[in-house]
Amino acid sequence: MLPVRCPNCAGQFETEEANAGQYVPCPTCGFKSPVPGRRAAREAAATAKPSRKDLAAPTRPQGAATNGLGIVGLVCGIGGLLLGALPGGWTLFALLPAASGLIASALGVRAARHRGVSPLIGVIGLLCSFVALVWIAFRAWFYVKSQGTITAP
Ligand SMILES: [Zn+2]
Repeated sequence: MLPVRCPNCAGQFETEEANAGQYVPCPTCGFKSPVPGRRAAREAAATAKPSRKDLAAPTRPQGAATNGLGIVGLVCGIGGLLLGALPGGWTLFALLPAASGLIASALGVRAARHRGVSPLIGVIGLLCSFVALVWIAFRAWFYVKSQGTITAP
């Protein structure tokens, strides 16, 4: 028996192998459906199973992509922390990666939640970026305050 998929109603039925390469009426809707040849039917059956895996597979790279956004956020957050730790008033240089880290990891967390992937990396990135931002803000405030005390007397 050969598997036939009706192009009209998408129903599946089987027909005699003698009908290979011909048209047989669909038992559901009566549409004359093309019967694949023996080779085509075998190839369809062979590709049918991997295609199911292919359908499941794209969810993993997508999940990796969302985790990738989280990783970008994490790296930016850590970068912001490290730049914020540098001596001197390079707060703007640290502010940029910290702010972009916050946005990237927030997007990563949102996308991960939307796709049911673990948003852990994005959450860590979010925390790192947030801590970096707070620290940079504190350093900037402290820098301005110390400048003020120096010029005041
Ligand atoms: Zn049909």
